[in-house]
Amino acid sequence: MSDASSAKPQPLTLSGIQASGSLHLGNYLGALKRFVAGQHDQPTFVFVADLHAITVWQDPALLAAQTREIAAAYLAAGLDPKSAAIFPQSAVRAHTELAWIFNCVARLGWLDRMTQFKEKSGKHKERASVGLYTYPVLQAADILLYRATHVPVGADQKQHLELTRDVAAKFNNDYGAPAGQPDFFPLPEPVIQGPATRVMSLRDGLAKMSKSDPSDLSRINLLDDADAIAAKIRKAKTDPEPLPDTLEALEARPEAKNLVAIYAALADRSEADVLAEYAGQGFGAFKPALAEVAVHALGPVTAEMRRLMNDPAEIDRVLKDGAQRAAAVAEPVLAETRRLVGFWNA
Ligand code: ATP
Ligand code: MG
Repeated sequence: MSDASSAKPQPLTLSGIQASGSLHLGNYLGALKRFVAGQHDQPTFVFVADLHAITVWQDPALLAAQTREIAAAYLAAGLDPKSAAIFPQSAVRAHTELAWIFNCVARLGWLDRMTQFKEKSGKHKERASVGLYTYPVLQAADILLYRATHVPVGADQKQHLELTRDVAAKFNNDYGAPAGQPDFFPLPEPVIQGPATRVMSLRDGLAKMSKSDPSDLSRINLLDDADAIAAKIRKAKTDPEPLPDTLEALEARPEAKNLVAIYAALADRSEADVLAEYAGQGFGAFKPALAEVAVHALGPVTAEMRRLMNDPAEIDRVLKDGAQRAAAVAEPVLAETRRLVGFWNA
């Protein structure tokens, strides 16, 4: 990447996944596969979001292992550490410093609109951590610290990406660059692409599949074995109707729609094609077929993840190297930000 004050932002991809529990099919299809697909197109930075994870309680005895587990998933899914920089978010201290500056740029009214905070804090908002509230501001710092232009995420992150753009625009406006210079922070584009940008819970077709869902039956974890996958799909909520022959007829059937979407994404086929094969059949036939497709697609990723997790030293080498490469990009951007804000610097 060129220096922080270059005229036109260089294309750069950045994203992360929280170290808040087991990775699941939604993370894999909505995020991980997208990181892998784009990694050779432009510089790519992928972090394990441990700072975000602690916005809700994480057992300190498990956090480092969870961080390695996510890194193992990145590698097992096909991220090439020679190409993508893979690193723990907390290892690049500039994230937290820029987040503080952005806490002073973002407005309370913006954060008050964030639906993820409302969902995660539930009925007891006063008991949520302040970190959970300012989570989207840290996310803005994660992205803008690298002057990232493309951010592959699942559909649930769209609103946070809009807030990142608002932070960038307000910072540019308030602190700006000298007259005639281009804006300091580029406005990043969310990349919400692919066949499964919002995988739903297996227990509730209206709720997103999530790491933090208390029911393990709601999700297929990347570390689940074939029996667990088959059992979870067998128990997945459905309706009594056979599968229809048109996509429109699935619209009012969220659970059925979700299973068809998962099948299509994992088998690399269109949903229409899947329906053409299974129209008229009930879930007694469809579920075992889906389980087979899921085991076939995820089995190799699971096996490679397990192999890597038995070699934590190798994962640590990747994370250390990634953190150094990330810091080399982040530090000059933070230094320039500090200068624009006017901090003392002798
Ligand atoms: P948590 O419940 O702790 O928030 P999560 O399952 O939502 O965990 P995150 O670490 O918050 O996972 O998100 C990592 C990435 O995975 C983000 O890009 C997010 O948009 C994407 N993602 C999360 N859940 C899904 C899903 N169900 N379908 C598609 N993408 C998803
Ligand atoms: Mg989430």
